[in-house]
Amino acid sequence: MQLLKDRILKDGKVRSGNVLKVDSFLNHQMDIELFEEIGKEFKRRFADQTISKILTIEASGIGIACIAARYFHVPVVFAKKNQTKNIAGDVYTGQVESFTHGRVYDIIVAKEFLRPEDRVLIIDDFLANGAALLGLTKLVRDAKATLIGAGIVIEKGFKDGGKLIRESGVRVESLAIIESMSEEEGIVFKD
Ligand code: 5GP
Repeated sequence: MQLLKDRILKDGKVRSGNVLKVDSFLNHQMDIELFEEIGKEFKRRFADQTISKILTIEASGIGIACIAARYFHVPVVFAKKNQTKNIAGDVYTGQVESFTHGRVYDIIVAKEFLRPEDRVLIIDDFLANGAALLGLTKLVRDAKATLIGAGIVIEKGFKDGGKLIRESGVRVESLAIIESMSEEEGIVFKD
């Protein structure tokens, strides 16, 4: 998606530890007009599919998923990052190792919001090692819902997550795939 790539080149900041800061338009301050274009593009790519629910993860996936949902006309469910060890109630759970914070946390979703008849599209801001996406796919599997695919805004193509998840049979549509990035050389996209 050229508009997105141009914006990443203009406003993205490469930080040490392979972190791309996109705080000025994607996951702190949010450019909603860009989000609308992102939502339209996800809809275009998954136009051949029936989707009943969008699943994302708090916090930075929520805004993107909500705007995308305007084009799919479906509800958004976000997995909550659980702080406590006591997981009470009727929930599906998974574990995710955070790329940015380097620790493991639990994710939960209430069983009532993910049903076997659901056809789920997962949406998230980044795909790096694939931990977040794998955690979300587990919730869908546990619910016996149908996973239609995953829409990712920025994929780090130099990390293993995309390959791993595609090889497991999940359709992954990434709007910008970064082939390489460094503070010195900047950002290079695939294609
Ligand atoms: P993964 O679980 O695939 O390793 O990483 C995906 C998650 O880590 C995303 O939910 C995203 O919030 C975060 N993340 C991964 N890499 C980056 C990055 O370079 N910049 C930012 N801002 N978030 C990232």
